[in-house]
Amino acid sequence: MKPGHYLALAGGVGGARLAAGLARALPAGHLTVAVNTGDDFDHVGLHVAPDIDTVTYTLAGINNAEQGWGIGGESWAAMGALTRLGGPDWFLLGDQDLATHILRTQRMRAGETLSAITADFAARLGISQTIVPMSDDPVRSIVETDEGTLPFQEYFVRRRCEPRFRSIRFEGAETARPAAGLLAALDDPALAGIILCPSNPILSVRPILSLPGIADRLRARRVPIVAVSPFIGAKAVKGPAGKIFAELGLAPTPSGLIACYDGLIDGLVIDHEDTDAACPVRRHVTGTLMRDSDDQTRLAREVLDFTTALHAG
Ligand code: GDP
Ligand code: CA
Repeated sequence: MKPGHYLALAGGVGGARLAAGLARALPAGHLTVAVNTGDDFDHVGLHVAPDIDTVTYTLAGINNAEQGWGIGGESWAAMGALTRLGGPDWFLLGDQDLATHILRTQRMRAGETLSAITADFAARLGISQTIVPMSDDPVRSIVETDEGTLPFQEYFVRRRCEPRFRSIRFEGAETARPAAGLLAALDDPALAGIILCPSNPILSVRPILSLPGIADRLRARRVPIVAVSPFIGAKAVKGPAGKIFAELGLAPTPSGLIACYDGLIDGLVIDHEDTDAACPVRRHVTGTLMRDSDDQTRLAREVLDFTTALHAG
């Protein structure tokens, strides 16, 4: 593996799993994980940032590994009390998770940036790599469906992605500035590779790529850009990526992913089960299911070595 700094783009569950492996595979301070904030929303007066929290909890090792999101061993007393008082029951807020939302909201109201708060929480949880929101300016994913326009969490959680997906837009993205920490990673002379985690390409990675100038800046660095497929055997490991790809007329295969990433990537990491499909970019074939932290670290090391091999040409 080429020594240097690596930038990973991530959403929640799939992103966090690989990011946790990368965090262990790289020396402290050599990884920046830039996280989707298109899913962020205000709920019961609190700023909820689901993907940042999933990445933070996972890198801190306090995540609920089976569920993929939230904190392990969570209790739900506040949620019970909230619904008893007539509050909304469709978005689950664990007791410990609630502490994150309360403190983040209070600090944002006091004028701190999401970047500063995210960095502070990460440090307090013992994380030695950098986690940055993609932007400190609000960007909100809005999904156009056959049942009309739905704010992201209404589509994703409340309606469980059932309405047919037509398109997605990122409100605020046109004027949002990429977070300073993301730009710092991109400007780092030691940048050795860019990794698109096995996150949902449309819901989680595209919002990051929609920030003004980001896709061009990624390309302009001329370091290998490698995507890890979220599909195994042409099916998403979890969540609606397959359903959304189908509704957009994209195949859940290497060529579908390459089309989705539109000329951005230099290499693709795919599972053994997907080798029969055509792949017009350099590929690395391996087991991509991350059941535990050993799987995460092993896959991360292979991704880093593949990135290095692409560097060598
Ligand atoms: P979300 O924001 O929580 O929906 O999470 P992401 O967008 O980061 O990740 C969702 C994607 O992760 C799904 O499309 C899954 O197929 C993928 N995923 C989850 N676990 C794994 C895994 O172990 N291996 C691979 N290759 N993909 C995974
Ligand atoms: Ca998400």
